[in-house]
Amino acid sequence: MGETFQLYVKNTSNCQGLPLQTFERLGQEWIGESLRLPFGPADEPRRVLEIVGWTDLFTGRPCVVHVARVRWLPSVQPEITGGPDTPQEGYLIWGGNSGVRALDPNTEPGPGTDHLPPGWGYPIIWVAPEDVDDLPSDVRGVAGYPERDPDGLKVFDCPSCGTGNAVIEDEAGFRCRQCGQDFPESLFDDWRDDLEGDPTAPGPVIKWDEECANPAESPSDELS
Ligand SMILES: [Zn+2]
Repeated sequence: MGETFQLYVKNTSNCQGLPLQTFERLGQEWIGESLRLPFGPADEPRRVLEIVGWTDLFTGRPCVVHVARVRWLPSVQPEITGGPDTPQEGYLIWGGNSGVRALDPNTEPGPGTDHLPPGWGYPIIWVAPEDVDDLPSDVRGVAGYPERDPDGLKVFDCPSCGTGNAVIEDEAGFRCRQCGQDFPESLFDDWRDDLEGDPTAPGPVIKWDEECANPAESPSDELS
């Protein structure tokens, strides 16, 4: 099992809280000030709202928002704490101790929320795997990739498009899942040595020299 983390959201004016939940991390975590997400039924024109994290600090203010692919694990007593009966995979959007807030300028404040920016509060937002395209592409670019490939090898940043952890080894060799670029195995020789020497050591950061047309010609110079 991968690393797990727990999340608890307080009852505040932003939203109803969420009892302590446990999630298994399945991929890279995206962190940002906000992200845009479509809301509403899929068969109607949907409205795109800005999502921010929310904390109860100073009676409520925005904070960073996180996105990660996770497995939501059932608790011992799901009938009391909520959450799934069986493990569920999906994309978790979470913010601060008061959840997240979808900013909606067209909304009137509800009772007791006129000190908050117009919008809607949620403890978390859950995006099912089939709805992953709802996430902005830069968020997918990070959250869509596993921290380790299925064989347990480290994935690494693409020297061509710069997407983090996008390059993985498949049957044909090394390929970037974001831009589709193929890479010769020799480019990662040093990285493999490192992996075999100490499986827990992070791979080297591969820097791309834009003037170097072929990364295979001088891979070792590009490693730092
Ligand atoms: Zn790429």
